[in-house]
Amino acid sequence: MANNLVAIVGRPNVGKSTLFNRLTKSRQAIVSDEAGTTRDRQYGKCEWNGREFSVVDTGGWVVNSDDIFEEEIRKQVIIATEEAGLVLFLVDVTNGVTDLDVDVAKILRRSKLPVILVANKADNNVHQYYAAEFYSLGLGEPYCVSAATGSGTGDLLDIVLDKLPTDGGELIEDGIPRFAIVGRPNAGKSSLINAFIGEERNIVTEIAGTTRDSIYTRYDKFGFDFYLVDTAGIRRKNKVTEDLEFYSVMRSIRAIENSDVCVLMIDATRGIEAQDMNIFQLIQKNNKSLVVVVNKWDLVEDKTQKVIDTFEAAIRKRMAPFVDFPIIFASALTKQRIFRVLETAKEVYLNRKAKIGTSKLNEVMLPLIEAYPPPSIKGKYIKIKYCTQLPNTQIPSFVFYANLPQYVKEPYRRFLENKMRENWTLTGTPVNIFIRQK
Ligand code: GDP
Ligand code: GDP
Repeated sequence: MANNLVAIVGRPNVGKSTLFNRLTKSRQAIVSDEAGTTRDRQYGKCEWNGREFSVVDTGGWVVNSDDIFEEEIRKQVIIATEEAGLVLFLVDVTNGVTDLDVDVAKILRRSKLPVILVANKADNNVHQYYAAEFYSLGLGEPYCVSAATGSGTGDLLDIVLDKLPTDGGELIEDGIPRFAIVGRPNAGKSSLINAFIGEERNIVTEIAGTTRDSIYTRYDKFGFDFYLVDTAGIRRKNKVTEDLEFYSVMRSIRAIENSDVCVLMIDATRGIEAQDMNIFQLIQKNNKSLVVVVNKWDLVEDKTQKVIDTFEAAIRKRMAPFVDFPIIFASALTKQRIFRVLETAKEVYLNRKAKIGTSKLNEVMLPLIEAYPPPSIKGKYIKIKYCTQLPNTQIPSFVFYANLPQYVKEPYRRFLENKMRENWTLTGTPVNIFIRQK
């Protein structure tokens, strides 16, 4: 099974977030000289020679509280080796081998994962000479890069693609939706999954041709037929680490990447928190469809419509501008509305597969565009004459052909998207709107 997840590990200040930025070409992480300040955006996508993979900067999750600091790093390395397909172990050539480097190397050697030892800050030839000492870590020849200047990173990416495990050809049936149940620790994921599959083993059918650690479980009962992806509740929990946010994020990544629809569970007694938003962003970055479940609804005493409306509004406000998704108030414990969750996930899956005929599309959209055309720029009028849906795309994708596509700005694209959502059922699913030269 393909595991396209690359984890960058290493002690603080070796340049993990600088390398992460370079690989994901983002300026999102805040790079700083102070240890412990790179604390934002830890997950990104990298594309190299036509292949896409995910990169996680483990440094993004370290809580800097002195004595647990080094212990925390060790835990993260362990989690990374359990979930990632490949590890980039970063060391700093200007610093030499440290005790923590030796510890991390030990953990990595024990895992059977492919590891690339990366000697960073090799800004010049002298530094490259120093890199030889890292050979003692027992992870082979260190590969020299300078994350700051980018030197060596292209070759590094070649090696990453070379070592990243490729698809083992897991046999899963096309056209059957894949649902991932995600959320932060204690949101109720395991409880929901158990409510679906119970202790009845026969509901969970083994998929022929899959390995034991397949992340897909087929569910075929009560008129539903779908795969549950990476069911955290079924797979063993790691006692040491299960409450760490980093663990839950690493877990979520693979589930999300391999799903069509994500069921994001929120704990009604806590409301929406930063951790929920992190997972929501993972879902968005991967263009997956979304159903939000406000779980533990049994614990909420005041269930008036007003409370429901306030809850809904608060969630949509946090997730704006994407607001067109279903929210279900449920209880995994009492099983209230849990089948509604499945029905909704299925509907959202069908929305994701929506096909809108070209003539209908133009019939509805062109008059709306005519009534409210893109604002003219520098005295030039922008005309959209025709639109169509692209075939064979992951999510519904539409092209609007314009005389001056470069002048159609984001607010107008959003206007088009909103009009499409008003006229067709695209609930829960992201859509692409492209403006192209006619
Ligand atoms: P992290 O804690 O491992 O994520 O490390 P950072 O990416 O935050 O980098 C720590 C410091 O090292 C920052 O001041 C970076 O500018 C610097 N740095 C990162 N990569 C390089 C490099 O290739 N060469 C040099 N000279 N400095 C670097
Ligand atoms: P996970 O970490 O997301 O898999 O969460 P669990 O399913 O392990 O649930 C965490 C705790 O919340 C457990 O004690 C559950 O019994 C409890 N729990 C889960 N769902 C509900 C619910 O709908 N109502 C109530 N009252 N408790 C729940």
